[in-house]
Amino acid sequence: MEVYTPVKLEELTEKLSKEKKVFQFLAGGTDLFSSINRGILHPEVLINLNSLKSSLDFINISTEHIEIGALTTLQKIIDYARFKQNAKLIPDSMYKALSSIGSVQIRNLATLAGNIANASPAADSIPSLLVEDGKINLLSTEGFRKIEVEKFYHGYKKTEIRPDEIIYSIEFNTAGDKEFSNFIKIGTRSAMTISKLNLAYKICADEIKLAAGSVSPFPMRLKTVEDCWFKAPPLTIEKIQEILTQEISPIDDIRSNANYRIKVLANIIFQINSNNHFCFPDEVL
Ligand SMILES: Cc1cc2nc3c(=O)[nH]c(=O)nc-3n(C[C@H](O)[C@H](O)[C@H](O)COP(=O)(O)OP(=O)(O)OC[C@H]3O[C@@H](n4cnc5c(N)ncnc54)[C@H](O)[C@@H]3O)c2cc1C
Repeated sequence: MEVYTPVKLEELTEKLSKEKKVFQFLAGGTDLFSSINRGILHPEVLINLNSLKSSLDFINISTEHIEIGALTTLQKIIDYARFKQNAKLIPDSMYKALSSIGSVQIRNLATLAGNIANASPAADSIPSLLVEDGKINLLSTEGFRKIEVEKFYHGYKKTEIRPDEIIYSIEFNTAGDKEFSNFIKIGTRSAMTISKLNLAYKICADEIKLAAGSVSPFPMRLKTVEDCWFKAPPLTIEKIQEILTQEISPIDDIRSNANYRIKVLANIIFQINSNNHFCFPDEVL
């Protein structure tokens, strides 16, 4: 396998515009090497991004948005959120989602861009990005292209990234004063576990946003449930289950089965809805 290590972004985008061979980017390698070892991916060229840290490892904050560079590790984002002066800038749903991924060793290598590009239905960062108006900045020789996370996936492991593009950065909302957001992960154990299902939600005045993972080919907003949230009659577990049966398309796999996923997701959503939105236990279950 050929390994190519660009030292400038322009050099990389030029290379991508001409590359004819099958390639993969190497960021933290936590998904990539596992997929190569298991024979799922067979890249002819490995494009090692790690000499581009000066261009791609950053966290930029404005009043309303946070922009995370493609080589920023999950642990760096978590540590950033822990600084006192940054308290409350990173939404709780995002902080909890990133903190639930793997172990500290994994999070010290793994990037947010890699979690997004790997496009697993169970990727824990994506539901939070969906409720926080996440956007992805793609870069090519043509310049930047911004795409909403909601429009980024269009099938199992299928994304909008063109072969000549790279994820440059990811943007999402900073946490607002009058909102509550949370992330709930259901797995076999409380750490180092891939989600059987996950849910991010954000409540602000009379608006709710819900997004779930591991219940469809890619993480998705639960818009029909959202539409019924504040309407009478109040949502029952049966009603939520009925809506979810139409809205999501979970599968049976080694981690869980479709029936379990619908029932547990309905139970969680019912508890959030009936507890006036605030009382669900906030740790990994
Ligand atoms: C033990 C273990 C536990 C884990 N636990 C969890 C978990 O609980 N939850 C979870 O969601 N994930 C989990 N993961 C998966 C993984 O850690 C994450 O998906 C990680 O964020 C991937 O980032 P990376 O930098 O390692 O990507 P890499 O492995 O380097 O790359 C992954 C994919 O993204 C592409 N890519 C990388 N960067 C870019 C870019 N800038 N532009 C375009 N494409 C790019 C690569 O080509 C590759 O296809 C776990 C993995 C391991 C090994």
